[in-house]
Amino acid sequence: MTTAKDARGIDLDIKDAMEGYERFRLAFERDRAFYKSLATKKQTPRLLWIGCSDSRVVPSQITQADPGELFEVRNIANCVPPAWADDEAVGAAIEYALGPLGIDDIVVCGHTGCGGIQALAGPMPPDQGGHLGRWIEYTRPAHRLVAAAGLSEAERSAATIRAHVQFQLDNLMTYEIVATGVAEGRIGIHGWIYDMEQGEILAYDPKTGHWRGLLEAGD
Ligand SMILES: [Zn+2]
Repeated sequence: MTTAKDARGIDLDIKDAMEGYERFRLAFERDRAFYKSLATKKQTPRLLWIGCSDSRVVPSQITQADPGELFEVRNIANCVPPAWADDEAVGAAIEYALGPLGIDDIVVCGHTGCGGIQALAGPMPPDQGGHLGRWIEYTRPAHRLVAAAGLSEAERSAATIRAHVQFQLDNLMTYEIVATGVAEGRIGIHGWIYDMEQGEILAYDPKTGHWRGLLEAGD
């Protein structure tokens, strides 16, 4: 509630952030040398992480990454618009990550219970005249594919989330810088799904077309 205030008239949501910030200031002082090195050196993140905006799926938490390790793009339903689509945010991040930052691995991470994926399947999909409705259209190919597969309702949600990540990997390949890097063996692209109930990450194996636990040995 944006109107709830404390005795001093401070919005309670903002107060929560202020209290967190106070704790961060203490942590910053304890680790001052680390933060100084972050501030004075060029960033050298390991991964370009393309994930959902969902507040419950926190990339640095589920990978235990420190500041400086993940270059993140987060948007509703972890979409990668194709290179020719009318969107610059994801393409710009891809070019910057693979160019000046020299990142050579891209993770597209979906998650179970994704509202952005469920939106088109629900009885009241967002109006296509608005930003949300137009954005959600990027999940349409996965919905179409799964609808055509004739799965039971119970299987449909998980299948759509998986198919959507696979489509985003395809979309990554529409960017020249990604396609060239993958063809030359310099760039790796990885499709993951975070299972919120289990706290587990599943990884797509393009060789077999199957999903398996991230820690299960691949070949
Ligand atoms: Zn989501």
